[in-house]
Amino acid sequence: MQPTSANFIANARDAIADDNLQLAIARVGENFGAKRQQAVDKLPEFDALCGRAVEIKDDVLAHLDYYLEVYERAVTASGGHVHWCATVEEACETVLRLCRSVDAKTVTKGKSMIGEEMEINPYLERHGIEPIETDLGEYIIQLAGEPPSHIIAPAVHKTKEQVTDLFHEHHRKFGKTERLTEGEDLVAEARELLRGKYLAADVGITGANFLIAETGSSIIVTNEGNGDLTQMLPKMHIVLASLEKVVPTLEDAATLLRLLARSASGQEMSSYTTLSTGPRRADDPDGPGEYHVVLLDNGRSELLGGEFQDILRCIRCGACYNHCPVYTSVGGHAYGWVYGGPMGAVLTPALIGLAEARHLPSATPFCGRCEEVCPMQIPLPKMMRHWREQSFQRRLTPGRERLAVALWAWFARRPALYHLGARFAIGWLFRRARGRGHMRKVPFMRGWTLTRDLPAPEGGTFQQQWRRRKRA
Ligand code: SF4
Repeated sequence: MQPTSANFIANARDAIADDNLQLAIARVGENFGAKRQQAVDKLPEFDALCGRAVEIKDDVLAHLDYYLEVYERAVTASGGHVHWCATVEEACETVLRLCRSVDAKTVTKGKSMIGEEMEINPYLERHGIEPIETDLGEYIIQLAGEPPSHIIAPAVHKTKEQVTDLFHEHHRKFGKTERLTEGEDLVAEARELLRGKYLAADVGITGANFLIAETGSSIIVTNEGNGDLTQMLPKMHIVLASLEKVVPTLEDAATLLRLLARSASGQEMSSYTTLSTGPRRADDPDGPGEYHVVLLDNGRSELLGGEFQDILRCIRCGACYNHCPVYTSVGGHAYGWVYGGPMGAVLTPALIGLAEARHLPSATPFCGRCEEVCPMQIPLPKMMRHWREQSFQRRLTPGRERLAVALWAWFARRPALYHLGARFAIGWLFRRARGRGHMRKVPFMRGWTLTRDLPAPEGGTFQQQWRRRKRA
């Protein structure tokens, strides 16, 4: 996916003007947010679990090389193979080589954000292999030719009417000419058409929510069971995962799983939690003949030991998306790459470069809600500030913004002058409001006053009010 993060402002403007999108994403905060809160309220040890989860992932990140080597040995012992890939190109080539080794014509796919990073679908198509998404949301956006817009609900930006149109247009060639409008009917039709694809596929590709070092297993969670059919039926199962998905033990994975579904969709557990350990054994009734794990770095190891390391604790629950006023206004596509919301605002600049993604860390009101709901206690606002500092230091911000910040910093380092200037500015704004309580136009603040009034200042500067309060 060619990033369009550099156009975030224009993307966001288009998203706000898109009525269908606004209708669809209005449900995100209401549904996911409320359900998460109910699930958290029902689990008294939720905060303690979060603390334990942070310890687990911090330990993993401090000894990532060790746990990955343990994991690789366990995978090999179970008959599988681990392929280490530093870049997206290496990972794509590895997947293609594996597919060709079994003469694959079609590949079924479970949801995988690493697959999105790799753009594996168009890559396979260019090389004559047909990828078929099996997660319903991913299937819908594959028909629409769009990337996912939410980390756990890829088609959340589509209304039911849009899905009706898509199915009507794309399912005709399979003899499905009836225009279905009920959710249940749409699901049943997709299920019926996908059944044959599972059985015909040569390779099944899934992501992994966690990789278990002690057993060499990969875990996926789904609500549709599509992941199980994707990985069990074909000759070969390929797991796409990034390095930091490894956790030491099954017990550690259980701790993280208890947080994942609650934070994501408010469920106690997802409907299916499936572990895969190596290929089919001689006495197994079913399963793939080959099991491969493609481990992608794509710049993550450079984050270790630095100010952005904590983002590698992320378990992709999407809670920060669901509670972000920016994400719930503009949706995921506005962010211009694979990841959106506060998590994407931190991770995307690390993976595709700050020059391309410099707007994303500014796409926040710094309300702090994302950090509050993050089960992995990732300091998202702090890391967005780090990116903004780097933007400034690397002169990526426009000259006007830089000048304004430099002026402000010059004053802030001279408190007497700063207080005098602040008193003057407040007095000037107060006079400008002429007792109306608000202002329609303020010089240098056109962007703010274009769509809303600026409240008039009340009661002097912060410093004056602070002194009055202390005296009282
Ligand atoms: S940053 Fe936190 S809240 Fe956001 S997806 Fe990751 S774990 Fe979930």
